[in-house]
Amino acid sequence: MSRSKSGYYLALRQIAKVANSAFGVRKTFNSIAKSTTKAMQADGCRISLLDSKKEYLITVGAHGLSDLYLRKSPLDAHKSLPEILDGKVVVVPDATKDERVQHPQIAKEQRVCSILGAPILEKEETIGEIRVYTREPHQFAEADKSFLSSVANISAVLLNRAELRQLLTRGYKANEKQAKLAQVPQSPTTSLRPTEFAHPSEEEFAKLLDFYCIEWLYEPRSFPLRWQNGEIAEMFTPDFYLPELNLYVELTTLKQNLITEKNRKLRQLKKLYPEVNIKLLTKNDFFKLLAKYGYGPQGKAKVEGVSRVLYTHSQIQRRVRTLARHISHDYAGQRLVLVGILKGVVCFMADLMQHLPLPVTIDFMAISYYGGDDGQVVKITKDLDSSITGQHVLMVEDIVDTGMTLNYVLGHLSAQNPASLRVCTLLDKRARRLINVPLEYIGFEVPDEFVVGYGLDYGGEYRNLPFIGILYPELTKDSETQ
Ligand code: 5GP
Repeated sequence: MSRSKSGYYLALRQIAKVANSAFGVRKTFNSIAKSTTKAMQADGCRISLLDSKKEYLITVGAHGLSDLYLRKSPLDAHKSLPEILDGKVVVVPDATKDERVQHPQIAKEQRVCSILGAPILEKEETIGEIRVYTREPHQFAEADKSFLSSVANISAVLLNRAELRQLLTRGYKANEKQAKLAQVPQSPTTSLRPTEFAHPSEEEFAKLLDFYCIEWLYEPRSFPLRWQNGEIAEMFTPDFYLPELNLYVELTTLKQNLITEKNRKLRQLKKLYPEVNIKLLTKNDFFKLLAKYGYGPQGKAKVEGVSRVLYTHSQIQRRVRTLARHISHDYAGQRLVLVGILKGVVCFMADLMQHLPLPVTIDFMAISYYGGDDGQVVKITKDLDSSITGQHVLMVEDIVDTGMTLNYVLGHLSAQNPASLRVCTLLDKRARRLINVPLEYIGFEVPDEFVVGYGLDYGGEYRNLPFIGILYPELTKDSETQ
């Protein structure tokens, strides 16, 4: 099946020409994958890059492989032919029986048999890989290996000048990431953004994730849910995957009463793939998320006032005293820095610190909020006045909702190497959590409603209420948002 030396020479000439063309990155890699498949008389080819944390392989070009086979990605770089990561050319005689193959069942269904994989190297470091697939068992010759390595070399050169490379090699440590991104705003073109989202709400969600510097992949993987006569009869493709959080997010824009079918699929998915972590965000959840920032149909709502008191002033005071007792007990004999994010935390911080019989200092940060613009990332508009390196830090929060703000701020604070870093939040809106940030001290678990008072605002107002109340409950009904 493999070509003669002159055949490979001609193929390389063609590939080099494509690489030097003015095509976009994906088109170029698809074209290289096609030429490679043809040159090797194989059945398919896939070119992938390692993500910034070198955990996943993200497909940047492919030919001859079914959508299903491609969408089983992102491949876990450490589980799927890990020797390629070590810079080796790898031969898999039979993918359906090889332990090194991550999805042997899907390989079988897709009739993938032999695989040849070569690393894409940059200064002896693996940055990606190229694989060719055959349907029939095949013995790859030395000429095949050296041809594929040459294509990998051309790909490396191409990547070096491609915009795609910039985003995949954001070479920073996890806890330094947010700080760096805040200084160097990423433009949307530097995200692995698909050319088209299936729905505008998905694009809005992607912008929100970009804002909080949360890496995401759009529809990277499909999960077979049902088989019939050995064929896949039903699949489910979650909208987003957040690799750092190992979390899939399905954003549904269907009306509440039409999501029964989706819920059935999710239940089935959880049953078949118990290790998969997935969250469903309904249309209403999503509108509430946007409303916080003044966007979406609920964002422009005319507010009539507080409809119900959730916690009275004396209930809040009692709970704050209890929290202070626990904190004083845990930090006995130590100095403590209380850090708050302006402005919602002012009432809680003021009351809490008065009940702490410890040597305490306080400091505040302020951060920008999501404004819906492309390429915008969260910024620290006021940083701490004093260093927290080597100090015991307690982050004091008014409310934790999705956890995105806190996740960002904790990343920023932990980069300064405090002796310890914990969180005390007055309110925990747990039902809407996307990111599981660890909360050490919690005042009240609040329902999924928009609350104001005791420092919390709506459009800058209501902070001065001495109690916590629920605002515009009628807008949380799904019927209002259709
Ligand atoms: P997260 O990033 O956890 O989704 O949101 C945290 C921030 O959103 C809070 O610090 C607060 O500013 C705002 N927030 C979330 N839920 C509410 C709420 O019910 N009422 C008010 N006033 N602000 C909220």
